Amino acid sequence: MSALETMKANRRGLMIVLSSPSGAGKTTLTRQLLASDPDLTMSVSATTRKPRPGEVEGKDYYFVSKEKFAELESNVEFLEHAKVFDNFYGTPRGPVEDALEDARDVIFDIDWQGAQQLTQAAADDLVKIFILPPNMRELEKRLKTRAQDSDSVIAKRMSKSEAEISHWAEYDYVIVNEDLDTALQEVRSIIAAERMRRRRQPWLGGFVKSLISGG
Ligand code: 5GP
Repeated sequence: MSALETMKANRRGLMIVLSSPSGAGKTTLTRQLLASDPDLTMSVSATTRKPRPGEVEGKDYYFVSKEKFAELESNVEFLEHAKVFDNFYGTPRGPVEDALEDARDVIFDIDWQGAQQLTQAAADDLVKIFILPPNMRELEKRLKTRAQDSDSVIAKRMSKSEAEISHWAEYDYVIVNEDLDTALQEVRSIIAAERMRRRRQPWLGGFVKSLISGG
């Protein structure tokens, strides 16, 4: 690593919130982002929801009982937590703090309630991105293709979508996901720009000083 690269690595980690109604493509986007950027870490939430087919404990979620969730909550082990649909979801605090200390950026797949709580707790480190579907028909189609939820759950999720979408204006960036590759490029551009914010590069002061003094 060059001296400049070492200095550049000395920046504050970002907390990147991705919210969207179910089926807007957020999970696929997140997966592709993580696969292509080693500086990104996913925050794995705890939930009282039952696992869907294919979901892996510790990778997609920590699946816990209502009692365990309440215990974690009362021990202040969540950075934020909320009830979404009929289940509880929470972000474990420890792994996020460890990642940020290591100057890694953390992605949060959480809803608007979680985004609001993180804004209260850590506004300076936060970048909030909202993903919209191109239209509601597409959203329903994507929920059905996923086919992991029953019809009644899908209907419920569709009716909740409007409520989630109504919070779009609380986010820093809004992406309409009509084409996955385009949306992915857009999220990457946001992350690249946010990493270069002056306040996130505390090494710049010293660097400019040495530039001016001919170093
Ligand atoms: P799903 O059950 O489809 O995986 O997630 C349902 C919703 O809960 C999604 O909008 C997702 O972003 C949100 N969610 C997942 N984990 C958390 C969390 O830890 N906190 C909050 N506030 N929302 C979460």
